[in-house]
Amino acid sequence: MVFETMVCTACLTLAAEGPAPSKVSTPKGDILIRPIEHATLVLEWSGLAVYVDPVGGKDRFAGLPEPDVILVTDIHGDHLDPATVKALATKKTLVWSPKAVHEKLEKAGVTAKSLAALSNGEKAKTGEIEIEAVPMYNLTPERLKYHEKGRGNGYVVSFGGTRVYLSGDTEDIPEMRALKGITAAFVCMNLPYTMTVAQAASAVLDFKPKIVIPYHHRGQDVKKLKALVEEKSKEIEVRLLEWYPKKG
Ligand code: ZN
Repeated sequence: MVFETMVCTACLTLAAEGPAPSKVSTPKGDILIRPIEHATLVLEWSGLAVYVDPVGGKDRFAGLPEPDVILVTDIHGDHLDPATVKALATKKTLVWSPKAVHEKLEKAGVTAKSLAALSNGEKAKTGEIEIEAVPMYNLTPERLKYHEKGRGNGYVVSFGGTRVYLSGDTEDIPEMRALKGITAAFVCMNLPYTMTVAQAASAVLDFKPKIVIPYHHRGQDVKKLKALVEEKSKEIEVRLLEWYPKKG
């Protein structure tokens, strides 16, 4: 009976704080992964918070630490919301984004510790967090109009040497297939804007992250991705998180 009471209390505490974050271990402590919705997430590590594509208003991030870093991948509304970036950024926040995004943030009057543009291939650093902007673009002729090469950024973020890949909106481009040493990979899949589950599985099997976390997958069958990857690899963990919370 005592045990039952303890379990019950733990559940109540959990409910008050929101769902437990998913974790990726590093030699310097866990990276906590907090999916917000679709392409929006927060990564916490070593007392630092990295916000990725924050959209939809500041209230969605209530209770989370203020952003030390904000990364934006592209100009579309599911990735860029200048008002949300403006509301979230503080005097300590470093904001990195591709040039096309950077111009819109400046125009919106976003203020932060720094606001800088990063092109594909460029790197930035704060403390033990290193960021590399990597390409993201479409390959299929009828989808080329969605993401032209060079406009948006995917990112490889190194947390003290543990590398996390954020695909942004892309297809299975050669640059993705050539990635090395990725511990956790956030990979998009949705049509018509990015790629199919089969394309994503094929790319993942090429660059072999330790963990792949499908995101930006509205309308796609992520269980099929899990099956396709696990059929060919025993080493890659496919981790399915909740990216589309029910609106209540
Ligand atoms: Zn998108």
